[in-house]
Amino acid sequence: MELSDYKLGMGTWQMAENRSPGPEEHRALSFGIENGLTLIDTAEMYGSGSAEALVGEVIRPVRRDSLYLVSKVYPHNASRKKMKEACHASLRRLGTDTLDLYLLHWRGSVPLEETVSAFEELQREGCIQRWGVSNFDVADMEELWSVPGGDACGANQVLYHIASRGVEYDLLPWLCEHHVPLMAYSPLAHSACYRSAIAASAALREIAAEKKSSVYQVMLAFLVRQENVIAIPKASTAKHVAENLASLSIRLTPEDLRRIDKDFPPPTEKAELDML
Ligand code: NAP
Repeated sequence: MELSDYKLGMGTWQMAENRSPGPEEHRALSFGIENGLTLIDTAEMYGSGSAEALVGEVIRPVRRDSLYLVSKVYPHNASRKKMKEACHASLRRLGTDTLDLYLLHWRGSVPLEETVSAFEELQREGCIQRWGVSNFDVADMEELWSVPGGDACGANQVLYHIASRGVEYDLLPWLCEHHVPLMAYSPLAHSACYRSAIAASAALREIAAEKKSSVYQVMLAFLVRQENVIAIPKASTAKHVAENLASLSIRLTPEDLRRIDKDFPPPTEKAELDML
């Protein structure tokens, strides 16, 4: 499957951190895969490799071609010299010989041209199927498009949730126009700074009650109703994974969207890319 065939995946940030993987997290990811959530997002950064190791353990009994594995390289490893080693370490931890998508986690000091050429080499060797970027705003995407091979970018993973809609102003339209899927990270507004706005939203509470769902399910439905957007919530319990899956069947009406816009207005001007 292509990335654009997915609506929802599973994030792994803060899983298996500073300890051996918890059985509940293992069960949550296994449950997700068994129920069709086969896109898994991880990174060499998460738990310094322990999240990738957890994913590796979870997917051991699963047919590799039924999965879509995404990992990310640190900016300081995104050079011709270091990327190969970083990628092989991720592959070893994941127990696979190829990644479906390998992302530059955020922009660092390595020139984009060099990073693209390092991605291309890994692609030629079969270590990765596609490559992409993360935390890139429009200006970064424009710059990427100007380097040789840069327009082969397969995704941009950025923060996007109902209470942080800045990407709707120009980045999301830019990505749609250039057929680059947007992977929405922190789709449940993980950061404490947004949780109070979410808790205070009468629209969210009412819509959730009307749909017999939770506020979090409505937040996911709000994102995945859009073409070109894939949400990757992190859930460490099977209960949360099941709820996230069920959000796929929630349909928001134009009236629901108008009520959401009142509490969480769409952007009217350019804002810096959110990363919180
Ligand atoms: P998130 O998915 O917005 O929120 C995760 C939080 O929501 C956890 O506390 C989780 O609790 C809770 N949750 C999950 N499902 C729920 C449900 N149905 N009802 C209520 N609460 C629920 O946060 P995130 O981890 O920041 O983002 C998701 C993924 O995006 C990450 O795991 C990572 O893979 C990726 N990411 C990428 C970047 C980047 O720079 N590219 C940055 C941040 C994140 P439990 O854990 O208890 O289930």
